Amino acid sequence: MIWHYRCPDCGEALQVEWEDHKNEMTCPKCNADHYPSTPSEDHGAYFSGDKWPRELEEAVISLRGTVCSVPGCFHEYSKLLHRKPYVDGGRTSVENLVPLCTEHAISKGSVDYEEWLKTLEPTAGVDTEPDFEFTITKKTDRAQEAAQPPLPPGPVFTSSGFVQHLAGKGYVPDEHPPGLQLIAAAPFLPGPMRKLVFHYDWRLEHEGSCQVFLTAWPHNNTPDLSKGKAGIGNLKAAALHKGKAGEQGAGKLELPLPPAGDEIWTAAVFLDSEGGRPCFTDFLLAGTD
Ligand SMILES: [Zn+2]
Ligand SMILES: [Zn+2]
Repeated sequence: MIWHYRCPDCGEALQVEWEDHKNEMTCPKCNADHYPSTPSEDHGAYFSGDKWPRELEEAVISLRGTVCSVPGCFHEYSKLLHRKPYVDGGRTSVENLVPLCTEHAISKGSVDYEEWLKTLEPTAGVDTEPDFEFTITKKTDRAQEAAQPPLPPGPVFTSSGFVQHLAGKGYVPDEHPPGLQLIAAAPFLPGPMRKLVFHYDWRLEHEGSCQVFLTAWPHNNTPDLSKGKAGIGNLKAAALHKGKAGEQGAGKLELPLPPAGDEIWTAAVFLDSEGGRPCFTDFLLAGTD
């Protein structure tokens, strides 16, 4: 497989056999020695062809999370698909691959992702029951640490150093039914991460209230979510919002993380509707130092 990247010093378009990408290279243009960018360092770097190695998949998942990208769908992703189809010139890169569940992957096929999204009925193929199994039973060898991927505009982080984007969506259009709903979940390596931060814009469709929970757990210490919010455990941050129909606002939750070893954790956000039929109009889940 040929890996196409840019020289970190002069920006010249370069390529390397993927099996050699960990070796030091010399740029033929600027003569600087460098190590080729990895998928998590350069989201625009790409492979020739429409196949990819595990490192590319891990970079996509550490950026976008393990939940299907279709708004309102909370199924575990089953495969990555090209946003812009490969046959139409779409590249096999982090920025052009998107995680989809089995059902949505079959439905999308080789159509352009954005075009296909417009054809979806708001609730077509969407199961509002979150599938909690995915983050825990799945064997992920090691989520690659993304090297400060660009954050979407909006929330401002006060951290001057490390920020890792874990999950986010511009809009979750579905009004959530009563009870605990999974909004986002993403695997991460605690590493330099000292806390999780969740920024969100909320709105109530009915008079009532809702609670937002930010939580995290080591991958072999799954919470018992069959008990609803009582099963979440002690490591959590929560916020309560209430008001009239149409009430809206912005919220932020921070969850300090305990010192952790070298194992994968799961970060998750839940929304508990208590009559307010809440929705998130924007959110971002990230880890910082
Ligand atoms: Zn160069
Ligand atoms: Zn889906």
